[in-house]
Amino acid sequence: MQDVTLTCPHCKTEHPHTLTPFIDLSRQQKQRLAILTDSLFSVTCPACKKQYTVLHELLVVDETTKMALMLIPNTEHEQVDGKVTGREDLDSYTLRLVNTTASLKEKLLIWEQGLDDRSIELSKLYLTLQLQEQDCQLFFTEQREDEDKLYFTVLDRDGSLKGSISCENGLYSQLQETASGFPMEHGYFIRVDRQWAEKSIRNSADR
Ligand SMILES: [Zn+2]
Repeated sequence: MQDVTLTCPHCKTEHPHTLTPFIDLSRQQKQRLAILTDSLFSVTCPACKKQYTVLHELLVVDETTKMALMLIPNTEHEQVDGKVTGREDLDSYTLRLVNTTASLKEKLLIWEQGLDDRSIELSKLYLTLQLQEQDCQLFFTEQREDEDKLYFTVLDRDGSLKGSISCENGLYSQLQETASGFPMEHGYFIRVDRQWAEKSIRNSADR
């Protein structure tokens, strides 16, 4: 926990607030919901009672699945050395860097459904190329076992909802083989997103 003083953007009142810079998902299940509903970053002003958002760096660790996510809002970094956490036990974890709360939520959903985020990124890239408007963002939503499909939400560049799109599980499995061949630097929180997918494909074509 981290105590800070915030200034309400609505009424300009300064007030104390406690940020949560670390979450252990295997022990704090309630925080999972707080991430998925954005309430983790939502602050209610004690003076005017209005809500506002405070984004901050966050480390989310899941000891059960050995996954760790680092949120650094708006960072352009492609990777961050795992040593910054001061936790040697994370050495054996899958480490990912995210720069938006949307991608933080997406990673949680991907991992919870036992999927591989690298193959998901490749699937998204493949699906994006089929779209008329390619300047959009895809976010994984769910895996439907009965249909044998993966579903994604489509947002335009401004973040407005455009609809949803799906792909066969078969495509994902096929791309999983490709993704597992891409080199990943050990001990680093890596930002696995569209940029990563495009770069990895370019690099593998050059080899
Ligand atoms: Zn206020």
